[in-house]
Amino acid sequence: MWSRRALGLSIGAVACGPGLAVRSVSAQSLELSAIPLPVHQQAMHLAIAAARANLFFPFGAVIVRAADREVMATGVNNAAANPTLHGEIVAINDYVARHGNRGWGEVILYTTGEPCPMCMSALVWARIGGVVYGTSIEKLRQVGIDQILLPATTVIAAAPFYRGQILGHVLESETDALFVNRKRR
Ligand SMILES: [Zn+2]
Repeated sequence: MWSRRALGLSIGAVACGPGLAVRSVSAQSLELSAIPLPVHQQAMHLAIAAARANLFFPFGAVIVRAADREVMATGVNNAAANPTLHGEIVAINDYVARHGNRGWGEVILYTTGEPCPMCMSALVWARIGGVVYGTSIEKLRQVGIDQILLPATTVIAAAPFYRGQILGHVLESETDALFVNRKRR
């Protein structure tokens, strides 16, 4: 369960209960390592559930508000309709439709697969507070899914203005299984 703690908006760094420390919104960065792993895993399970809506490309994503664990948006790959509609982009669009283009520094995107350069760039432009993924780009390539071989950390490193963090390999045994066992045409 996510802790229900108020986000410290006016104080620099605030300890928000067991293991969950959230910096001020102005810092536009959430300390991902301070959030207990089971909290990340619970959100990743939601991303996995979203991914199951696409049997061929099970890329699912959820955007969660760090302070109260509210699920703000969901997305699943819909590249069959539009090549840019990766799960992360669908989740970004869902977020904006429901909440407007604000509050990005307070939320974390969870995705079953490491964001590709297009999606990671979009997340950087959003200045999202953090990104957590399951399966790596390298593993996706190994199981036969076309990938641009540019790790998300490389995109982040090329954007010095971006303060968000990234954490990978969360529940990767489960997300890897999604991709290994996906339906093939
Ligand atoms: Zn992508």
